[in-house]
Amino acid sequence: MTTDNNKDQEEEYGVLLYYKYSAIPDLDELFTFYDSNCNSLGLLGRVRLAPHGVNVTVGGKLSSLEKHVAAVKLNSLFEGTDFKLASCHQPSNDRVSKECGFTSLSIRVVKELVTFSSNPLLTSPEISNAGRHLSAVEFHSVLQNAGEKECPNYHKRLVLLDARNLYETRIGKFHTPSVETLDPGIRQYSDLPSWIDNNSEQLRGNCVLMYCTGGIRCEMASAYIRSKGAGFENVFQLFGGIQRYLEQFPDGGFFEGKNFVFDHRVSVGSSDAKILGTCLLCSSSFDDYSSRSRCTYCRMLVLVCDSCQEKSSLFVCELCQKNGKRVGSVSLIKNDVSEEEPTAFELEAVSTSDHTRLSPQLPWRHGTMPLRKLRILCLHGFRQNASSFKGRTASLAKKLKNIAELVFVDAPHELPFIYQPCLADSNDSAPSSMQQNPPPPPLNCCNKKFAWLVVPNFDGK
Ligand SMILES: [Zn+2]
Ligand SMILES: [Zn+2]
Repeated sequence: MTTDNNKDQEEEYGVLLYYKYSAIPDLDELFTFYDSNCNSLGLLGRVRLAPHGVNVTVGGKLSSLEKHVAAVKLNSLFEGTDFKLASCHQPSNDRVSKECGFTSLSIRVVKELVTFSSNPLLTSPEISNAGRHLSAVEFHSVLQNAGEKECPNYHKRLVLLDARNLYETRIGKFHTPSVETLDPGIRQYSDLPSWIDNNSEQLRGNCVLMYCTGGIRCEMASAYIRSKGAGFENVFQLFGGIQRYLEQFPDGGFFEGKNFVFDHRVSVGSSDAKILGTCLLCSSSFDDYSSRSRCTYCRMLVLVCDSCQEKSSLFVCELCQKNGKRVGSVSLIKNDVSEEEPTAFELEAVSTSDHTRLSPQLPWRHGTMPLRKLRILCLHGFRQNASSFKGRTASLAKKLKNIAELVFVDAPHELPFIYQPCLADSNDSAPSSMQQNPPPPPLNCCNKKFAWLVVPNFDGK
């Protein structure tokens, strides 16, 4: 942020979130608009543009964010958009800001606003088939009347479905005595379709009330559930998500705990200070993700209280624990991954291009059995050999030693000390620079030189 003088620092800071599903006639034009508008207003964060919509999470001075909203509203594409603007403290935790992508402005054109499934064969559901929106007040009253009137339109059993990830639901979720809250317990949004597939019986025939942080995840997920046809028609989604609900019901209403958010605020609570989360290690009440402690295996955020953090830096999330992973076996992969990019599954909406950055950072293991290290075949260059190539890549091999093994082999054709290609074929057989300056044989290495390809009648002389 350009906050060099005191006046700037005193000015209120804010975070703005909005999304809009709408056919974008001219992506280039919209890109140019965001690029110039956000840069001139000094906004930082993420803007994702797709042929069918826009998803924006930006932070900056409150007055600048208001100017941005005013400018966006001039475009008729954004009619009816829910602009969620919240004032907050200026980012003070650099690590959280960086992880949340609030230290720079990133505007990207993506194929899809939300990568709904990591399965490339599963086509995204039609967004126009999404569940009906319920305002915070309507949502609240449905829950309040549960057991009496039940479903808004039908006499069905009511279930709540939390469309968020496990680490989010750990610190806050909707809870009412008469309605069951289904918590898929997923690491990332793209795991939700398979959860829905595997648990469709819990949804079939019921009236499903879905919610997420700001609403965008329910759009796609509710459309997916409804695409399953008969018995899955009655799906409703909380418009504006938990964020709008808490604004409407500042005491929390039926929402208990804190709303996990994908910006430097980390989480937003109601006036009710109830703590839902517990420390992964000592089970004491704890719900603060500011330290960004992560599972050593899958990098999912985990809750670890301050005193447990002093004792250990290796954590295994409950999902990995279920898969039999233990802290004791992870010592070899302790190398630091502290300065990481925001991982894709931590964005409220995951776009395809974000998704490509989500690399499995972790150990080559499966279940409790360590997988064999990745073996990388390393082929040396012309007039070289395995031994000298190995020597020159020793530092790389050392860096990769926990996850990969470099394998070196000599090429099949041994060359004389100075290879003299046939004059007639000289242009084809070797780069001219090599002919003019044959490298001196490296000391301490095997003196034999090899080539992978030679002219057809090459006999080594
Ligand atoms: Zn603890
Ligand atoms: Zn894990």
